[in-house]
Amino acid sequence: MLVIERKEELSTYLATQRQAGKKIGFVPTMGALHQGHLSLIAASLSQTELTVCSIFVNPAQFNNIQDLEKYPRTLEKDRALLKEAGCQLLFCPAKEEMYPAPTYTSFSFGPLETVMEGYFRPGHFHGVGLVVSKLFHLVQPEIAFFGQKDLQQCRIIEQLVKDLFFPLEVQLVPTVREADGLAMSSRNARLTPAQRAQAGIFYQALQLGERRLREGIEIGRVQAEVEAFIGQNKAVKLEYFCVADGGTLQPAQDVQQHNELALCIAGYIGEIRLIDNLLLKI
Ligand code: AMP
Repeated sequence: MLVIERKEELSTYLATQRQAGKKIGFVPTMGALHQGHLSLIAASLSQTELTVCSIFVNPAQFNNIQDLEKYPRTLEKDRALLKEAGCQLLFCPAKEEMYPAPTYTSFSFGPLETVMEGYFRPGHFHGVGLVVSKLFHLVQPEIAFFGQKDLQQCRIIEQLVKDLFFPLEVQLVPTVREADGLAMSSRNARLTPAQRAQAGIFYQALQLGERRLREGIEIGRVQAEVEAFIGQNKAVKLEYFCVADGGTLQPAQDVQQHNELALCIAGYIGEIRLIDNLLLKI
């Protein structure tokens, strides 16, 4: 596996590969890799001829400085995992490489970011839009792979690609979970064993929501039941549970009016913020 830190070197190398007719797949990450990330790599390997993974902890998308400082960094282990998975190229730039000078360009995503993660993490999606645009320009992939775990991010990237004519396809890859249903996340490594034992509750809450919606219970009541379910567990603090349209992510009122619903949840266990979602067709 080739490891590149400099953007000029990346562009030069990828230009030769493109000229040789290779189809490029791209998996952007912030590292501390787990099976969820590796499923994106596997999806890229099966559909393209050259898989590029980036590892870059993007300061611009952190609205909480402590979260940025404490974000796990395990580059050597990540490198070994990527190599074993068959990834062909790792791009792991330093901060100065991606942000050589202050940036003034600003991203906002209208109604897609006034809800959920965008509401609770102001500026987060600006940072995502900025770094993903930079990376798309450098890598110029034919397909970029994103995890459904970060559904709002996926919808925002789809909008970015559409608005800015990026000539690439965005593919969503299903969420990979632990045995108890907890969505794999780099942040899970920061949970104490006691906290980890409670963390499956978010998935249980989503499943409860799904079951009640399928039983025909109206959205407002499902919302209240899920909130009460989480409320019973004193170790967990719910930030939001939202039943939204699967495409626009705007709050849903009536199940019948949507092709696809997204059940989205975010909350804290101790200081660790976790998110999860389910997409469902009813
Ligand atoms: P991150 O390193 O957290 O920025 O994530 C990089 C990519 O991996 C994003 O597209 C995430 O949505 C995706 N991802 C993270 N966790 C999972 C998971 N459990 N299953 C599938 N994809 C995931």
